Amino acid sequence: MPKIPVLDLTPEIEALWDELMAAIQGVLKSGQFIMGPNVKAFEQEVAAYLGVKHAIGVNSGTDALVIALRAAGIDAGDEVITTPFTFFATAEAISQVGATPVFVDIDPRTFNINPELIEPAVTPRTRAILPVHLYGQAADMDPIMELAEKYNLKVIEDTAQAFGGEYKGRKLGTIGDAGCFSFFPSKNLGACGDGGLIATNDDEIADQARMLRVHGAKKKYYNEVIGYNSRLDEIQAAILRVKLPHIDEWNEGRRRVSQVYKELLGHLDGIEIPYEASHSKHVYHQYTIRVKGRNRDQVRLRLSESGISTMLYYPSAVHKLPVYTHLGYKLREAEKAVNEVLSLPIWPQMDLTLQRQIVIELRSVLK
Ligand SMILES: *Cc1c(COP(=O)(O)O)cnc(C)c1O
Repeated sequence: MPKIPVLDLTPEIEALWDELMAAIQGVLKSGQFIMGPNVKAFEQEVAAYLGVKHAIGVNSGTDALVIALRAAGIDAGDEVITTPFTFFATAEAISQVGATPVFVDIDPRTFNINPELIEPAVTPRTRAILPVHLYGQAADMDPIMELAEKYNLKVIEDTAQAFGGEYKGRKLGTIGDAGCFSFFPSKNLGACGDGGLIATNDDEIADQARMLRVHGAKKKYYNEVIGYNSRLDEIQAAILRVKLPHIDEWNEGRRRVSQVYKELLGHLDGIEIPYEASHSKHVYHQYTIRVKGRNRDQVRLRLSESGISTMLYYPSAVHKLPVYTHLGYKLREAEKAVNEVLSLPIWPQMDLTLQRQIVIELRSVLK
């Protein structure tokens, strides 16, 4: 039996092969490799897709977070409220700008930051909230935006896993002051290397971000602040321009696969399938179940022995990682989730036969 990966990128690469080759060759022939016409065009195309004023390409999703935080004025000594159940980069970016992450526990249904716990965590040093739209599902943005208004906080959305996802009909990454995207190859919209982008309607944040990504210079060689070398590559932009027109179809594909999982797994004892909040158009970057009343690692091992790959997003809560343990957090839901979550294989073109095979194995493992 062939091994089933957690993600198969070959269908989308094969389907777009000729266009991708032409795009790459176009860049090679142009000789413009940094901040060329493809970066500019891609930024305009993403801005139009999201319906925002500014889209600023950067080197990675992590840099998008760092630069957006800096551009929004977050600085040493500030506090930024975020979730402990995310990829490390979310909190790392806060620390990179010299601020301190303040972790607030998650809503166990959605795995996203629990908005009810944010207000008690606000202090005079709080300057921003950084929600993550985990697995492609929207964090509950209305109460977050209300608190931001009340306490005069910036909101930076970590949209790395949710390109094309929506909250109450609005595109994720366009609700707060800035939205940060990653084009890491495995993301819903992935490049063939690193890449990221900041979306914003705020002219000041956009100006600052554009300056920060090129060493803090508005005019070349007239550097004003300490910045970064963080540009989206021209080749990656050219590749992303080929892929962008397909993102809605791919997200629909992921939703279709998730629907099949729901039908096949919905009544199985020993697991909980993902909860889809009514406010969200979930784009299923991950299809993450909870294993209940059984040893999750044992289930994972048995699946792996049957050729089925799964992933743990995430095996540790961020506040339990060595660099943050000194902060002394105890966050029950996040700490429980890390022992129960199991992300199953999902990609837009995944076929029913593979899904059936996974479900048969999972059923037998759970017996
Ligand atoms: C992938 C990811 C990032 C970082 O993006 P990179 O492009 O890998 O730097 C940040 N936050 C979350 C939630 C992610 O999934």
